[in-house]
Amino acid sequence: AHAPRPTVVLVYQRTSLPWVFDSARKAGIDLVLVPRPDEPVSPDRLPPGVVEVLPLDVEGDPAAALAALRARHSSRPFDGITTLYDPAVPFVADAAEVLGLPGLGGGTARAVQDKRLMRRRLAEAGLNVPGFVVLDEPGASAAAARLDFPVVVKPANGFSSLGVTKADSPERLGAVVDEVWQVCRSKLHQVTGLVVEEFLDGPELAVESLAHRGTVQVLTIGYKGEPVGPHFEEGVYRAPAPLAPQVQDAVVREVVAAHAALGVTDGPTHTELRLRGGERPYLLELGARIGGSGVSHYIAEHVTGTDLAADALRLAAGLAPRSLPDPDQRPARARGAAANYIVPCGGAGRITALHGLAEVAADPRVDHVVQMLHPGDVVRPYPDFTGYPAFILSHHPSTKDAEEFHRDLADLIRIDYAPAGDAQ
Ligand code: ADP
Ligand code: CA
Ligand code: CA
Ligand code: CA
Repeated sequence: AHAPRPTVVLVYQRTSLPWVFDSARKAGIDLVLVPRPDEPVSPDRLPPGVVEVLPLDVEGDPAAALAALRARHSSRPFDGITTLYDPAVPFVADAAEVLGLPGLGGGTARAVQDKRLMRRRLAEAGLNVPGFVVLDEPGASAAAARLDFPVVVKPANGFSSLGVTKADSPERLGAVVDEVWQVCRSKLHQVTGLVVEEFLDGPELAVESLAHRGTVQVLTIGYKGEPVGPHFEEGVYRAPAPLAPQVQDAVVREVVAAHAALGVTDGPTHTELRLRGGERPYLLELGARIGGSGVSHYIAEHVTGTDLAADALRLAAGLAPRSLPDPDQRPARARGAAANYIVPCGGAGRITALHGLAEVAADPRVDHVVQMLHPGDVVRPYPDFTGYPAFILSHHPSTKDAEEFHRDLADLIRIDYAPAGDAQ
């Protein structure tokens, strides 16, 4: 028997990123929050939509976490389970499968997240795939020397660009491969191999979509800069991206076909691509979740009016999505532009001051300033990833306005550092 209101377990959502909580409240969906281990949530100060906190060590002890979910479900059944946190996607898929709830299926979740399987499946389906080589153990990199350089070396199961590094020549490859294995050992939970693939030049795009019973509604296509490496920090995101109609059509075709190739039929997705030579879309990856811990919801909502997070929660609970725009209109009609500016670290050491954020927060175009680093925090130089100082989410009449605004932000925001000293 169902509870009067749908209940969805939400795994490892940062409470400082508010959109999924606000959407749940508006949609009348109750959330059981599994808090991030580094972000305890007090039961008397619950985020909107949250009716219960259920601490579980999903990454450290998945078997115990699954057993606890099973116990919770048999005493008081919930309707679904979901996450916006990429590393937890396979766990959530397994849990849904075991409990008989809607989900991706563990096999699909792993194929999506494992860049070896993902590349193979896309290639088998005839999609655009750069030359690539899989490295199964440290030391061996000879097989990759036959690729066209530059290449990009990355963990097969990575996320947040951790360890993703460009190698410009076969002579540099061995050292870069060693460095990426090193980052994997120190930063990633589980590392099973590396992928070396040809560097895709051209603009980077992010595509927000919602799939339902195999139909993929492409909501927005956004511009993510043109990163050149050697490391790939996140930078800007502005949607809708200004694209020639035939390029836009090619992007939509590639993204829709990738869903089919990977078996992702239901739920929100965040696809990253690069336009090789400025024209031909090549997938970087397809995340079977809302992107950017909710940033993708913000972008889709402001560009299209769709409540992506609410629909994602409905799908997780086995309900039909509400606000799907015309599925024949791909991407959905844009009513404005939205953007995310990720404040660059611009240095390393102990932060002594962040200038400009208060001024930016007061700008009527700005809806959220999400500050993640503060005075006193230590920023280590790349490739040792510390996190991003802040996100600035804003809406604009057009993408051109967003671009101008981002140029202003680059001048307005400054971070001062002192030497980190003995802090390490
Ligand atoms: P992660 O899962 O860690 O996010 P990605 O494969 O998405 O790994 O790579 C992170 C970033 O590195 C991408 O957003 C892109 O900017 C860059 N990148 C990765 N692979 C390539 C490639 N083959 N060519 C060009 N840039 C790449
Ligand atoms: Ca990823
Ligand atoms: Ca990525
Ligand atoms: Ca990225």
